[in-house]
Parts: sequence; structure tokens; C-alpha cells
Amino acid sequence: MPLRAGQTVRAVIGLDGGSTSSKAVLVDEQGEIIQKAYQLSKGNPIQDTKELLLQLRTWVHEQGASLEVLGFGATGYAADVLQEALRADVNVVETVAHMMSAVRFFGDVDVICDIGGQDIKVLFLKNGDIANFRLSNSCSAGNGMLLQAMADQFGLKVTEYADTAFTAELAPKFSYGCAVFLDTDRVNFQKEGFSKEELLAGLAQVLPKNVWQYVVQIPRMASLGKRYVLQGGTQYNLAAVKAQVDYIKERVPGAEVFVHPHTGEAGALGAAFETLRVVKRKGQSTFIGLDAAINLEFETRNDEDTVCHFCPNNCKRTFIDTKRPDGSTSRYISGFSCEKGTVESEEAMLALMADRKAIAKQFPNLVEYEAKRAFMHFYRPAPMPAEGSPVKDIVVKGHLLHQEGRGHPGLSPRQAPPPRERLGASASASPGCSTSTPPDPTSGPTSRRSAS
Ligand code: SF4
Repeated sequence: MPLRAGQTVRAVIGLDGGSTSSKAVLVDEQGEIIQKAYQLSKGNPIQDTKELLLQLRTWVHEQGASLEVLGFGATGYAADVLQEALRADVNVVETVAHMMSAVRFFGDVDVICDIGGQDIKVLFLKNGDIANFRLSNSCSAGNGMLLQAMADQFGLKVTEYADTAFTAELAPKFSYGCAVFLDTDRVNFQKEGFSKEELLAGLAQVLPKNVWQYVVQIPRMASLGKRYVLQGGTQYNLAAVKAQVDYIKERVPGAEVFVHPHTGEAGALGAAFETLRVVKRKGQSTFIGLDAAINLEFETRNDEDTVCHFCPNNCKRTFIDTKRPDGSTSRYISGFSCEKGTVESEEAMLALMADRKAIAKQFPNLVEYEAKRAFMHFYRPAPMPAEGSPVKDIVVKGHLLHQEGRGHPGLSPRQAPPPRERLGASASASPGCSTSTPPDPTSGPTSRRSAS
């Protein structure tokens, strides 16, 4: 959106600190996007944020305008540290940020498929809310990194992937699943003479299979609804988009598939929309301010002094100390395995535990309650018989169709089965056996077939 010289831009900033890239958006009070900023993550979320904010400020100033930031919200893996260091107004989980963004552009949707560089999120919506979701961040099968790695193998930039794949006239069928097997397939197909264009086309086609059959594992896609939104940085690759649209439309009759207009920044936009809502409702912002954020000083430490010694695990924590231009400081701790690791001194840890106990007393622990009920008896069992008491005999009944004295319906006497047996064994031979009958001294063995 172009700006006028002398204009003051009043806007909120939404930031998505991802593992491979970070994105920031400037959104005005009406929710319109003014500008977007993007950069590959350099490994430090605070440094990435400072650089993105500087990009936005520079862009506004270059047009002779000035910027008034009304609020700041973050999502993604960087959100926790930014909430502490920049006093972000909003720290929103990624699934919610992506949902807010998709709903804002497409209204009532059923499925949102967000494919990022390193993860896949598929959200299932009901009545405008997330009803369920699937998330995969531990396997590269189906995410953008896989396509990038394959493009690299052929010496192509990922931005040239789609144009190259669209020139293929056929595509080999890769088996879906683990990226290791996909690479084995690639080598075999290369040996068979497939060109790089054909291999890239085949890999794009396997992406939706990996998403839906390997990660999501819902066999009947049509049951999820008809309105699908594709978003996430990987959707910039039009070969991947085409493969997904074909895949969905083949399986969901009448499906509508939308591609988010700001597909790479969908999460950042969700954070911005939520910031706008929260700041309007509260009437004020906690954000330290744009200039203060850009000039933030910080130090990251991970050494013997930062190790947690409250238990033998000795978690190796990282301390991120920030100093704001107004002289105030904050420390963000990461790398702990339990809540005790969030504090440093023994007194602080004891105070934290005392707090937790007080809260636990105040509120029922529903997990503990359910665990007890899951193993509880709901009836009183009959008492065991006294030792040595006789056990009641049980007569084993014959076949229901066999009616004693009436023969067998539909069978001649020769075909009819022999009369029912009475089973049993000597009580002395089988003490305590409930199927025994008492021995009959006049008839010899108790189990025998009557002569007909
Ligand atoms: S963070 Fe928790 S688990 Fe880790 S060392 Fe400290 S007390 Fe132990």
C-alpha cells in the first residue's frame, strides 16, 4: 500500500518467528495490510525481530511518512521470548494465528492446510472454531524443506521449481512416506532415465499424498467439508499448489480450494489481527515501542552458570538478557524441563512450589480425579465362599434344538444325534471343579453315551 509524504501511519505489527524464516506485517486499524517484511531466520529470534522491525520502519520513512505503532503481537517459536523482551501485547499459538488469518479472508472454511518450511499444520474447523488439528514437525516428508532439498540436488533455486516442473510431460510415481525413501526413489528414477523436470513434477505430486495419507491419515477427506484453504510458505510453489488442488478435487466432490493471498505471512497476519482486537479492547498497548525494540540490547548466555541444579537432570538452560533504551531489563530463560527451571535461586524455587501447592489446594486436580475414577470399582463383588465349603454342581445343557423325548425335528431316527450327554467327573478326581457331578455307584463311569 503506497503512503503519502507527511502521513502518519497508525498500525499494529504482527510477527511470525519461524524456524526457517521470520515474517512481519504492518496492519492498519481497519485490518488492511500496509507492508510485509521477510527474512531467513539467522538463529536468534531477537536479532531477527530487530531487523524486520527496522525494515518496516525504513520502508515507511523512505516514503516521507511516519509510523505510530499501536501494538505488537507475535506467534511462532519466537513468541515467548518476544513477549518478555518487547512486552508484546499478544503471544498467540500458531494454530490460532493461522485460523484467524484464513477465516478473515475466506470466512466459513472447513480445512486449513498450512505447509511451512519445517512443519505441516492441518486444522479442521467447525462453526468457525478449530475442532481438531494434525501437526507434524518431526518428519520432513511433505514439507517445504523436502522440495527445497530436491531443487538443491538439481542445482535449481526453489523459486524456479514450479516453472521447471510444469515443463514435464510425465511424472514418475514416487512412493509416499519418509523422505529417505523418496530420495531412494529419486535415485532409481534417475537411473531409469527420468529428467529433472519429470522428477520435480513427481515430487510435487507426492506432497499432498504425504500430507493427507502420511501425516493426517484421515481416509475419507470428503467428511471434513468442502472449503479448503492452502497457506504457508510452501504454497508459493505453484507446482505443489497444483498437485494439492488436483488431489483434493479428486477426492472431495464440489470442493472449493483457496490459496491464501499472503500465504507466507498468514501466521504473522493472524498475530496482527489478534493484536488489533486485544489493543482495541484494552484501550492501550504494553509494547515497548518501535524505536526501543529496534535499539534493544541483548546478551545470550549458555554456560555452567546457567545450568539448573535443582535436580540431578542438570538442564542446560539459556539466559537471554535484554536491556531496553529506558534502562529496564528482562531475562528470558529457555531450555528447562520443568517449571523449577524458570527461576534461579533456591528461595525463588521454594516460593514457586509453595505457590503451586496453594493453587492446587484451591482448585480440583481433574487429571488426578479422572485417573482415580478410571480404576475405580462401581460394584461390590460377592464375597468369596468360606474355605472348604461345597461348590454347587452345574449341569451342562445340550443343544437348544434337541428336545428330549421328541426326537429331532426334520431328521429320521437314524440321522438324529444321540441323546444328550451328562458330563461330570468324580468330585474326588477333580476337587472344586464346577462342572463335576457326584459319582453314581450303580452306573459305573458318570460320563457315557446311552444306547439307543
Ligand atoms: S529444570 Fe527441572 S528437570 Fe531440569 S534440572 Fe531443573 S528441576 Fe531438574
